[in-house]
Amino acid sequence: KRRRTLSVEEYVQGVLSRDRAVMSRAITLIESNAPKHFDKAQEVLKRLMPYTGKALRAGISGVPGAGKSTLIERFGTMLCEKGHQLAVLAVDPSSSVSKGSILGDKTRMETLSKHPNAYVRPSPSGGALGGVARKSRETMLICEAAGYDVIFVETVGVGQSEWTVRSMVDFFLVLMLTGGGDELQGMKKGIMEMADAIYINKADGNNKQKARNTRAEYRRLLHFLQPATPGWKTKVDTISALTGEGMDELWDVMTEYEANMKASGILEKRRKDQLAEWMETLIEDELKRSFYENDDVKQQLPVLKNDVTAGNRPLAQAVKQLMEAYQQK
Ligand code: GDP
Repeated sequence: KRRRTLSVEEYVQGVLSRDRAVMSRAITLIESNAPKHFDKAQEVLKRLMPYTGKALRAGISGVPGAGKSTLIERFGTMLCEKGHQLAVLAVDPSSSVSKGSILGDKTRMETLSKHPNAYVRPSPSGGALGGVARKSRETMLICEAAGYDVIFVETVGVGQSEWTVRSMVDFFLVLMLTGGGDELQGMKKGIMEMADAIYINKADGNNKQKARNTRAEYRRLLHFLQPATPGWKTKVDTISALTGEGMDELWDVMTEYEANMKASGILEKRRKDQLAEWMETLIEDELKRSFYENDDVKQQLPVLKNDVTAGNRPLAQAVKQLMEAYQQK
């Protein structure tokens, strides 16, 4: 049976009263790639904007196998038991690939997703990372308007998606594993410089001492790095998503961070900077899209590319000609 179309007003009221069915439909509207859904989704968002911004937004990253879903399941359930309303979103850059996503299609976080205080939404699929991220950002706003006071945005610790999630959250947690000393030096520097907290997971059983050693090593390294957030010393500690050890402390760290960053005004400033940055990203994405969709560009590009690669035409001249073709329309 076909569902009745909801009006903007019905979406707004449904989200504000935390009607989960309406909320899910509002998010589906946002995730839709159909042009006719775009204006309506944006209108819903516009009406909800006054009710957004009150949640603690936390990104959670780590390589596949680091224990993200195990941690979110347990830590999230703990927060829900404390009375928090938690929304868990995901940004998975591979979700558009037909092979399936890195974050996994398996039923994840089974206990948490059944908890009345939790709302778990998988990564939007289809399109490039930029599109996935835009949808996740807007979904986050819907969840805030619905009264969720903690938002987790999960992502994989590979490449650009970490930066993307970092740029939409207040607090960024990176899960690490115990591992060899050499690889610590170069590769992980970038990740360490975007983290507000680094937790060495699987600090249980035989691995406990090793995790402590890794913690000491990371703490040493941090002295030489820039903190991700001005006025906040990046925390490094051990945790076990399996036993739950260290989870109370993690929540203490997050609430301390939120209180400090709110008091200093850094949180508000960061959110403003993030919006400005997002706007530029979106403009760039839209310009690029409209350029490559331009009929004249489509026609001339392969020809000019041939000329350039054959060495028959200077590159800059070919690009200039394409730009002129684009601007004529
Ligand atoms: P993700 O890919 O980062 O989401 O990682 P998962 O949460 O799926 O965990 C990967 C594997 O590590 C699973 O087999 C988990 O049971 C295991 N695991 C996760 N956290 C812990 C932990 O704290 N201790 C131990 N011993 N195993 C863990």
